[in-house]
Amino acid sequence: MPDNISSPKKSKNFIYEIIDEDLKTNKWSGRVHTRFPPEPNGYLHIGHAKSICLNYGIAKDYNGKFNLRFDDTNPTKEEKEYVDSIIEDVKWLGADFEDRVLYASDYFEQMYDYAVQLIKKGKAYVDDLDNETMREYRGTVTQPGKESPFRNRTVEENLYLFERMRNGEFNDGEKVLRAKIDMSSPNMLLRDPVMYRIIHASHHRTGNEWCIYPTYDWAHGLEDSIEGITHSICTLEFEVHRPLYDWFLDQLEIYHPQQIEFARLNLSYTVMSKRKLLELVEKRIVDGWDDPRMPTISGFRRRGYTPESIWNFSELVGVAKRDALTDISLLEYAIREDLNKNAQRVMAVINPIKVVITNYPEGQTEFLEAVNNPEKPESGKRQITFSREVFIEKDDFMENPPKGYHRLVPGGEVRLKYAYIIKCEEIIKDNSGNIIELRCTYDPETRSGGPSTKKVKGTIHWVNSKDSLDAQVRLYDRLFTIENPGAEENWLDYINPYSLKIINNAKVEPFLKSVKPLDKFQFERLGYFCLDYKYSNENNLVFNRTVTLKDSWNAKK
Ligand code: ATP
Ligand code: MG
Repeated sequence: MPDNISSPKKSKNFIYEIIDEDLKTNKWSGRVHTRFPPEPNGYLHIGHAKSICLNYGIAKDYNGKFNLRFDDTNPTKEEKEYVDSIIEDVKWLGADFEDRVLYASDYFEQMYDYAVQLIKKGKAYVDDLDNETMREYRGTVTQPGKESPFRNRTVEENLYLFERMRNGEFNDGEKVLRAKIDMSSPNMLLRDPVMYRIIHASHHRTGNEWCIYPTYDWAHGLEDSIEGITHSICTLEFEVHRPLYDWFLDQLEIYHPQQIEFARLNLSYTVMSKRKLLELVEKRIVDGWDDPRMPTISGFRRRGYTPESIWNFSELVGVAKRDALTDISLLEYAIREDLNKNAQRVMAVINPIKVVITNYPEGQTEFLEAVNNPEKPESGKRQITFSREVFIEKDDFMENPPKGYHRLVPGGEVRLKYAYIIKCEEIIKDNSGNIIELRCTYDPETRSGGPSTKKVKGTIHWVNSKDSLDAQVRLYDRLFTIENPGAEENWLDYINPYSLKIINNAKVEPFLKSVKPLDKFQFERLGYFCLDYKYSNENNLVFNRTVTLKDSWNAKK
């Protein structure tokens, strides 16, 4: 975890209590070793981030170890691109796996040996039933299953067939290796689960070396055992798998980690399953896995989130035993807190209207001082320029204002931040009646920081027309219109058509000339923004709005 995140207090959740107890009883000889075991079949999302923070946080708090292990047992859905993105994301979050990037595929030979051991013990057999018949034979929750006619093959025959499976003598689906447990177990997962299936597919790491691949249930517990994991932390849906993992490890009589389940993170107004996220990408509903509206780690990074904010969010959510929907505004709160403390302030106008200050000398430019970050006085001040023509936000002027409107109105006064008080003298319109320019005068006595005590109710931001830069800004809203789209069959019907608004004619202060991708700023009064790495280049500044300054969504409700 980044150093500026305070270490959570021990025993702050039930997992810490378990570990504290284990340390007291010396269950693992004082060791704490956790892991994050993603399947490389998609980019990581914020739920994975939660799991990384939890697992790495524990390793760090207890001076233990943390492995990054790819659960790469299914060659048909996995890709190198995903492996690379996952490594990048875990590193970015600051979870330190040292030199331990591990792969389940490195254990294939070992797993094969374990399977042979089970066959020799009469605890596994090769089955010829086709998929459909096997499903029928499994029975239902209320009815026991039926034993396969191949269940009682001899050890010798099983060993022979299993080797031939490995050697590629059979087609996909022709045979499987199954554990011989109990076809009438009330836990359906114990009804002779499949351990190996034949898949003639090339694997991103082992190439064509294998044509039988272990199932998740067979492989997962072995991986943790091989690595000497002490606390194998996973989400609640694996609670029912635990007896099966236990069974495998007990039969093999090998090292046995402790599995602990916790509730997965669900976030409102988004979907979190990798399958659905892939669909959003493939259907081009979003602009790739790192689209700033995606709940992926890469999406949040591109949007301007920091690792610290994700860590803090993860702490705020805590660790629960029951599933719940976490309000996305909690995540927004976490990033606002961080950026409020750390983001450089600048002025930008995203919907500009020109203001000509008629009593300001033509050709004159003066320098004013602007505060870089009021939360961090040590970050100092910068110089900004002021001259006869400036841009202000269209919204900051109203010809017929409602009561209580404190910004610029005809004949009214407002302060330009860090500059002067101006007064609106004249409105210039085009032929269709649109306001295209305001003519104002300024009061030279009211320079910011000067002796004048004159006060006005409103202060607005602006940029100097002469040296302002053009920019595009991208404003984001929630990707879905309902709180829990993942629960809907037709979840794609709830995409928010207004989740991205692109504004092309924004004006920003020249300070932003030399920004780098992902540099973060507060555009005064408008929110926090960062430079987009995909669309920005030397000639085009493109900013993503990370988050508004206030929780406008909840305020609206
Ligand atoms: P998805 O359901 O999104 O496809 P998954 O569980 O299939 O996710 P894995 O790559 O297997 O994806 O997940 C790696 C680890 O991340 C697992 O240990 C899993 O428990 C954890 N994890 C996945 N989703 C969440 C979540 N929403 N909240 C907390 N942990 C999660
Ligand atoms: Mg999974």
